[in-house]
Amino acid sequence: FKVPKAVNEPVNSYAPGTAQHKDLITTYHKMFNEQVDIPFYIGGKEYRTGKTVDIHPPHDHQHCVGQYHTADKEHIELAVEKAAEARVKWAKTSWEHRAAIFLKAAELLAGPYRYKMNAATMIAQSKNVMQAEIDAACELIDFLRFNVEFMTDIYSNQPESSPGIWNRMQYRPLEGFVYAITPFNFTAIAGNLPAAPAMMGNVVIWKPARSQVYSANVIMELFKEAGLPDGVINMVTGNSGTITDVLLNHKDFAGVHFTGSTPVFDDFWKTIGANVKHYRSYPRIVGETGGKDFIWAHPSANAQEVATAISRGAFEYQGQKCSAASRAYLPKSLWADIKKSVIEDVKSFKMGSPDDSSNFINAVIDDRAFKKLSGYLDQAKKDKDAEIIVGGGYDDSVGYFIEPTVIVTSNPQYETMCTELFGPIITIYIYEDKDWEEVLDLVDQTGEYALTGAIFSQDRYVIETATSKLENAAGNFYINDKPTGAVVGQQPFGGARGSGTNDKAGSVWNLLRWVSNRTLKETF
Ligand code: GLU
Repeated sequence: FKVPKAVNEPVNSYAPGTAQHKDLITTYHKMFNEQVDIPFYIGGKEYRTGKTVDIHPPHDHQHCVGQYHTADKEHIELAVEKAAEARVKWAKTSWEHRAAIFLKAAELLAGPYRYKMNAATMIAQSKNVMQAEIDAACELIDFLRFNVEFMTDIYSNQPESSPGIWNRMQYRPLEGFVYAITPFNFTAIAGNLPAAPAMMGNVVIWKPARSQVYSANVIMELFKEAGLPDGVINMVTGNSGTITDVLLNHKDFAGVHFTGSTPVFDDFWKTIGANVKHYRSYPRIVGETGGKDFIWAHPSANAQEVATAISRGAFEYQGQKCSAASRAYLPKSLWADIKKSVIEDVKSFKMGSPDDSSNFINAVIDDRAFKKLSGYLDQAKKDKDAEIIVGGGYDDSVGYFIEPTVIVTSNPQYETMCTELFGPIITIYIYEDKDWEEVLDLVDQTGEYALTGAIFSQDRYVIETATSKLENAAGNFYINDKPTGAVVGQQPFGGARGSGTNDKAGSVWNLLRWVSNRTLKETF
């Protein structure tokens, strides 16, 4: 059970003037000026219905880079049929062949697919070069490589036997199909959610988010070139209500691998619960949902470190990470220093198109996000218990641009302190130094989520107290670091409470959800 040792893919720096940078930007412009006609994929075949949706880069919404075709109900039913056909062979394919396909995909992505995947993510998801590289290239490569290693760890875990009795554990794939439903904000998550169950021998029907179909299509090309058999991963696009309705009501439904909003995931549970007698087995329900991630600093913290965590943790990728810092609790004694530094940072951030590497901030994903976020900014400008200390502007004349914004509030229950906004806005509450321990309760009790969080202190007793009091406040807990940027194999990612089932993406714990074990006892 030995495979190549997984290592994290080194991050390319793409320094302007280098060949790497030139090649990536050339790929970007070539793709930006082409029109792509994206089918959906069932049983390895491409389907084009003529019912299409245009694809517009969020930072240049009048420009069109192509279109994708949408599936009807009959196509989703066909996808279930084709997946079942593919399952016959795939479920019996040896783990070595499955591993080899995904290792090959990782190497293709590290090599010939890298610029294309990054450029697609830059164009349709408005990620700058660095944000695209750490997601669409490095994290997806890491998911593939590490999961292959975790898979073999799982298979080699076998029960004890004794002379005359041989006990074995067979890690069977689930009996049916897995439904993968993925978000716009990480190309790596979009690739991993169908790939992880498929690696364990399952067949998958995958619905990418509307605004990620452009890079999802590159993922399908990648898996095909790596040798993934037809019908193992079927990518369908279209109305999510229709797709979900067909799939969750099907007797072959065996599990869902989800990243998206909490209300949608709640609805999945209800539908699955109502259908439970209809399925062959109790389905696996695995989901990562929302977050309202915190930064808490003690008076002993290093103010500069806290300021950097705020500027990076709240504003990288326009705050559109489930892990993004969006509420902070800071002591009065450090506030002047932190404030000065954050305002300086934010004012230095340039905003614009992602092909210009000097733009740290790009566009938010779409018109709906823009309207929602600008609405919160307008409201904060009016509210007496809120003050915008930097940012607050927005402009959608060319792209959906929202300035990185810091709101300071005197009310720890102020709306933007409790509600997930999914944009470049952080709200800060300043507390009296002596109240640091009570404020931890506030951190723990605010909102419904528990995804990521960061505490800052140089005092060991305080670190211990805060880590213990906030035990259930975050599934990824950072001490003296920002709450974003989990690395596969190093900080397995996921949260509990309203943030999901905490099955840690890219880990043994996640892969174990995609098998249903048979214990064998043989006597001689
Ligand atoms: N894993 C990412 C991080 O640590 C966040 C993933 C997400 O937004 O769902 O920043």
